[in-house]
Amino acid sequence: MANKEQLSRRSAIKLGLGTAAAATITSGGVSTAVAAEKKILFKVPQIYIPVVDQKEQFPVRRIYCIGRNYAAHAREMGSDPTREPPFFFQKPTDAIQYVAPNTVGDHQYPTLTNNYHYEVELVAALHRGGKNISVEKALDHVYAYALGLDMTRRDLQRFMGDQKKPWEIGKSFDHSAPIGPLFPVSKVGHFTEGNIELSVNGVVKQKADLKQMIWSVAEQIAKLSEANELFPGDIIYSGTPENVGPVVRGDVIRCQIHKLPDLVVKIV
Ligand code: MN
Repeated sequence: MANKEQLSRRSAIKLGLGTAAAATITSGGVSTAVAAEKKILFKVPQIYIPVVDQKEQFPVRRIYCIGRNYAAHAREMGSDPTREPPFFFQKPTDAIQYVAPNTVGDHQYPTLTNNYHYEVELVAALHRGGKNISVEKALDHVYAYALGLDMTRRDLQRFMGDQKKPWEIGKSFDHSAPIGPLFPVSKVGHFTEGNIELSVNGVVKQKADLKQMIWSVAEQIAKLSEANELFPGDIIYSGTPENVGPVVRGDVIRCQIHKLPDLVVKIV
């Protein structure tokens, strides 16, 4: 049974009063008073991706995406795949739209676009972070893989790019990252080759082999870790093959990667 002292401490915490005195941090000659115990104003939900057939959920920290990672797609986007170093962008973590296997996810057609494109991609999920990770050790950082869609407001991406402005509005918007469950490496191994495919209303639009990536998943992790320290919970959309294209409301997109269940969404 709790004694009087414990009870009064609990009530103090409940009231957000805190029991420790305010601390003072001195940095660069500037003193800042910091309350030792801060009350959180409101709850911001953590985003999770379910791990297949397990109780575990994977907490998502950041979503990284590589651009133009298949030669034919780089050409269709107007660049020369032989000369370009890899580049990355991010989507907000809450852009994740989880779609369970054997279900059709309703995917909302976004605002502001008249040219809404699909991009089917393999996604790698990291359970280990680091800086300057070597290509040889990079795959040790991958916990699992999933099928994902990098949905894109292509008209806005192009418009902003043409004006030399950030094309975030074309890539990093609400619900722009549909994804299936994670498949741990311990169950499915690594994905260095194999079929990747996307169809719309039963017609195949994108079809390639994962080994056609210009930068492999291991190389992407190594390159990214030169720019940013990576952490557990980071996921990487590894790029899309050629023949990206538009969808309209009512279209059904089916994504396939060998060894994984299909990812299916309907545009609504
Ligand atoms: Mn993409």
